[in-house]
Amino acid sequence: MKKVSPSIAGAAALALTLSVPSLAGAQGLTYQEEQGNGAGSSAQEQMPRAPQHPTDKTRRAKPKPAAAAPPRAAAPAEAATAPAQCTGRDDVLGTSRTISIGAPNGLEVGLKTYPRTLKLEDHEVVLTFDDGPLPEPTGKVLDALKAQCVKATFFLIGQNAAAHPQLVQREIREGHTVGHHTWSHPQVTMRGLSDEAARADIMKGIAADERAAYGEAGTPDKPHVPFFRFPGFADTKPLLAWLASKNIAVFGTDLWASDWLEMTPEAELKLIMSRLDEAKRGIILFHDSRPSTAAMLPDFLRELKTRNYRIVHIEPAENAPDLEDAKPGWKSETEAIVERVLSKLSSQAKAARARQKSQPQRAGAKDTERLSEPSD
Ligand SMILES: [Zn+2]
Repeated sequence: MKKVSPSIAGAAALALTLSVPSLAGAQGLTYQEEQGNGAGSSAQEQMPRAPQHPTDKTRRAKPKPAAAAPPRAAAPAEAATAPAQCTGRDDVLGTSRTISIGAPNGLEVGLKTYPRTLKLEDHEVVLTFDDGPLPEPTGKVLDALKAQCVKATFFLIGQNAAAHPQLVQREIREGHTVGHHTWSHPQVTMRGLSDEAARADIMKGIAADERAAYGEAGTPDKPHVPFFRFPGFADTKPLLAWLASKNIAVFGTDLWASDWLEMTPEAELKLIMSRLDEAKRGIILFHDSRPSTAAMLPDFLRELKTRNYRIVHIEPAENAPDLEDAKPGWKSETEAIVERVLSKLSSQAKAARARQKSQPQRAGAKDTERLSEPSD
């Protein structure tokens, strides 16, 4: 696989943290990297008892003024940062080229999970953002991209798309690609659901994204953009085969910013640039649901330009794209993590059931029982 440094500090251990998805901004199964000897890992790996609401932090970090609300959340900043036009400008990063991607009989790319990726030249990057849209961070991300004439790909949570269709429409209007990331981003991932339930969640998400994006013209059975990313990269063979039969491309990633961790925008910028300078190219995963990413992005894009990186946009097409195989000895980085965390979840569910027997009135039994019965 590509040489992707697992962390700044060189800590090799990866652990997972899980958070309960919510309409406000699900993270679901995310990859938690221990920076140091893992002193904080046990707490991080515990299932939280209550849903987390990332937007609450956003609001605390930057309270909205009491002035009259704008008609659309994104409108004022959009107008303020919109460049007059993007062609012929060398004062912005811009979008270097577009790769058209079809998935006849299936396609899986992204070296963290799959032994192949898109064929990119050195210093070419594809920007992808998961888990949105959410008004404040996604709006800022879109502002930053627009200011630099950069096009990206968003993998939407259907619940968020249904709640914020105006942001989905803005993404499309500004030339971005809108792919899919399930309806509910469940804590147990698609792997923790029955095959039937997983398909239903995926299709419900696609339907919600399509409805938000295209209204009556939405086509969940044959989506405008047949791009999908599994929450937590936790795919299954039956689901991959099913998606392949629908000609839906599955995206992993080549590198990530670890922006599920709490860190300053400055630290996040340093981290992703160090990884990128080592990998030199690739599909990058961010979360537009994360305030730190939204805050970091303007500097990140400027840094890309300074270091002569070029943006490659991806869009749907009929034919398969050029691919590059992983280096000999490649191994999935995500698979071991997913298995370990789902196993831990199962153990926690068993413990919860044992507690339930001794305290039958406690709430939460249904959820924990489901965790212990993965279908795969
Ligand atoms: Zn996600």
